[in-house]
Formats: sequence, structure tokens, C-alpha cells
Amino acid sequence: MPELPEVEVTRRGIAGPLRGAVVRAARVGKPLRWPLGVTPQALAGCTVGEVARRGKYLWLPLQATTTAAHGGLLVHLGMSGSLGWWPQAGEPGPHDHFDLVTDRGTLRLNDPRRFGSVVWSAALDQAPAAPLLARLGAEPFDPALTPQSFHAALRQRRTPIKSLLLAGEVVVGAGNIYACEALFQAGIHPALAANRISRPLAALRGTLARALEVGGSTLRDFADAHGVAGAFQAEAAVYGRQGLPCPRCGAPVRRQVQAQRSTYFCAVCQRR
Ligand SMILES: [Zn+2]
Repeated sequence: MPELPEVEVTRRGIAGPLRGAVVRAARVGKPLRWPLGVTPQALAGCTVGEVARRGKYLWLPLQATTTAAHGGLLVHLGMSGSLGWWPQAGEPGPHDHFDLVTDRGTLRLNDPRRFGSVVWSAALDQAPAAPLLARLGAEPFDPALTPQSFHAALRQRRTPIKSLLLAGEVVVGAGNIYACEALFQAGIHPALAANRISRPLAALRGTLARALEVGGSTLRDFADAHGVAGAFQAEAAVYGRQGLPCPRCGAPVRRQVQAQRSTYFCAVCQRR
């Protein structure tokens, strides 16, 4: 599943080519999670602005000319989506379900499982974008998020720390692999109640920063949004390493199902 680092690496890859591009046409394939919400023809003539990211959503602002729609596209990659930039796109394949054709090239969404979405919204603070973004926690690298404010948010919750990180209501960006790795780095047991701990923010930032670094160096082909997770996973300390020795103490890494997700941890380094 594409996580925040993959979405951010995607944003960095498409922002340059899309900035200032003029939309010629849009093509919708099979239904995605939500409908586009506007006729594809209405997008023609718009100029694309600076691509932004909030949580795992990408926002493509579209500036209207006289006839075209004014607003933007809110894109989510769902379970299996990836955005590719094609200077000269070929015919869409069976899993290509959205094309934004511009004067410079085509942005194409490939999504075999079709849990992704491309939704038109007049603005980020209006429906349908606003309610989708309303419950997102802070951005992990937002300077306004301090260890103190993060700790204060954790203090009010008794949820196990890993479930709280996955829910994304306090801070976004900790998908399963990154939550497991960050808690290992911080030496925190994944089942510990959130209000009993104070330290995971630095570890989460470090883990996500490393994923961005790995993604930035390996994900050259934006047709493969899973490149980052793959490259990052290759150096994971605990994730996917059940029974293998903990890199810190040598004890076997354990796997436990927590809230229906596999949790990997070292019972020696991460005490309850
Ligand atoms: Zn250990």
C-alpha cells in the first residue's frame, strides 16, 4: 500500500512537469472509489498549479480560464495506485483508470484494485475535499508539531501506541511498516498505552526521513510507486523479520497481530 513517503516522492516527481502545464483533456476509466464529480471535458483549458500533499492525498490545483472549471483534483492512491508521468503516453492499459492529458505530457493513474480516487473539488476547504481531510492529524515534519505538543496529544489517549499511530489522527504518515520501525527505534513496545510514553516523535521523523531518502534515490520510474517501500523494507530492522535476530540484541523478532495488522517488534529492546 502506498504510504506517506511514497506519496511525497510521487509529489516531488510530478510537481515539476505539471507546474504550469495546460490541461488538454481528461480520460476516466473504470469507476474508482469515488466519482470524479465533474465532466472530464470541464477540466480542459485549466492550468495546473503547484502540486501539494496533505497526509496521503495529493492536491492538483487547477486554475480556470474563462470556460474551464476552477478548483482542483484531490488524488488518493488507495491500496494499489501509482501515478506515472508520461511525456508521450501510449494507449491506456486495463488498469489505467485516469489520465490528465496536458500540453507537456500525461499524468496517468494505474490502480489494479481501484480503491484509489481522483475527485474534483472547488477548493481544499470545501466539499468534497474538506470532509476527507478533516480528520487528518498533524504532518510529521510540520515545525508546529513539537515533542511537547505531540506528548500532550498522547497523554489524553489510552489506545495502544501503534494503533494510535496507524489511525493517523494525531500525526499522519505512520503506515504499518513505518510504525513498526519507528517504535523499534524508540525502544517502545507497540502495545503500550499512548498516555504512558513520550518519545516516539523523533523516531517517527527519523524513520520517515530515511524512507524519503531511500525513495528519492531509487524511485526514478514513477510508474512503480512501490519502489520506496521495497527499498526501505530491505533495510528494516523488525518489519517482516519474524524469527530473525534483532539487529540490536540478537533476540528473535516477534510477530503479533494487533488491530488486525501484523506488528513486528523485539520483546527485549521494546519493553512494556
Ligand atoms: Zn532486540
